[in-house]
Amino acid sequence: MLNTKSEEKIAPVMSAYGRFPITIEKGKGTYVWDSEGTKYLDFTAGIAVLALGHVPDAVESALKKQLDTLWHCSNLYHIGPQEKLAKMLTDRTCCDQVFFGNSGAEANEGAIKLARRYATIVLNKPEGHIVTFDHSFHGRTLATMAATAQEKIHSGFGTPVSGFKYLPYNDEADIDAIATDDECIAVMLEMVQGEGGVIPADKVWVQKLASVCKEKGIPMIVDEVQTGMGRTGTLFAYEQYDIEPDILTVAKALGSGIPIGAFLAKKHISQLLTPGTHGSTFGGNPFSTAAGVATIETFEKQDVIAQCVKNAAYFNQKLTNLKEKYANQLIAVRGLGLLIGVETSAPAIDIVNEMREKHHVLILTAGKHVLRILPPLVTNEAEIDQFIEAFDDVLKEQ
Ligand SMILES: *Cc1c(COP(=O)(O)O)cnc(C)c1O
Repeated sequence: MLNTKSEEKIAPVMSAYGRFPITIEKGKGTYVWDSEGTKYLDFTAGIAVLALGHVPDAVESALKKQLDTLWHCSNLYHIGPQEKLAKMLTDRTCCDQVFFGNSGAEANEGAIKLARRYATIVLNKPEGHIVTFDHSFHGRTLATMAATAQEKIHSGFGTPVSGFKYLPYNDEADIDAIATDDECIAVMLEMVQGEGGVIPADKVWVQKLASVCKEKGIPMIVDEVQTGMGRTGTLFAYEQYDIEPDILTVAKALGSGIPIGAFLAKKHISQLLTPGTHGSTFGGNPFSTAAGVATIETFEKQDVIAQCVKNAAYFNQKLTNLKEKYANQLIAVRGLGLLIGVETSAPAIDIVNEMREKHHVLILTAGKHVLRILPPLVTNEAEIDQFIEAFDDVLKEQ
């Protein structure tokens, strides 16, 4: 079945994404402009990537400097910004060491490999499985797709990577199931399920999970690709659960839009990655790690997490008011910090389209009936008011 190249005109980019019919050309702060010059309020932040908004000045100037110095040199040599960012991350988390990659999926893929290595070398269970949870999202590579407990993500791609077992999220019965499962080698979860519908983990449940992992001597892997970097009101969401992950993954907001991902681990686990066991050509390159360093420096200089907490409280109050006003249309307002989910009775995509077409406001969905609202952490009351006014108008018209 060797077909010749299509003679019909076909879009040169594969159609793996459903795209909205605008082309974004420029961004600054919370605003973007399309190719027609129309200005939009961007409450998607590039799907939780742009914690500091578009083209933040401090990161921009650090990157301009890095552009004039060194772009890439491979991991065969020491890389200054990589070591600096690793120190910054380990100083601010419960983990001892970092490995850098380029995306969330690559971070999770590495975390899964590391857990399997620990299972093989230390637990002597090379055939064991990792428990993940229904409605999770861990990425689109073969292993992270298998870790993702959503049928729609698996379907149509052949035999899934083995070694995963799914349990219901926030379910008390999980604790016993894991305690009595001798082949369970790790547990992997999000503190707030982002793509899966903006569902925060129950604190008591998470603490029991952490205890059962500890008793069994198996790693708890926390995927903070979306919840990390201040999004939920603390640098990492796990801090609010009073637990310590053994392996932690981070990506989206770490580089302010420059591609970067990382997995971190405590040293009894991380030390198993000896020379030659794992790698990534671009991972930890000077440019992306300089973006990470500048991002964390800006977080601290501008007290970005405090801004997030303040904005989240204001936003939550306004949304709660709207929920009372439109009780039939708005079923629930939930989330943590500025990772906000609004469950709607109407299809969420219809509201997303109305908001964009009529009011030039960009938001996301997380499933069929959940709006996902992800402003930059450095948004402000005026921008939140602009959103609320638009949302009120869209709900009124329904
Ligand atoms: C976005 C996301 C990923 C995947 O990240 P990519 O950079 O798209 O590979 C993994 N886990 C969570 C929780 C995410 O939100």
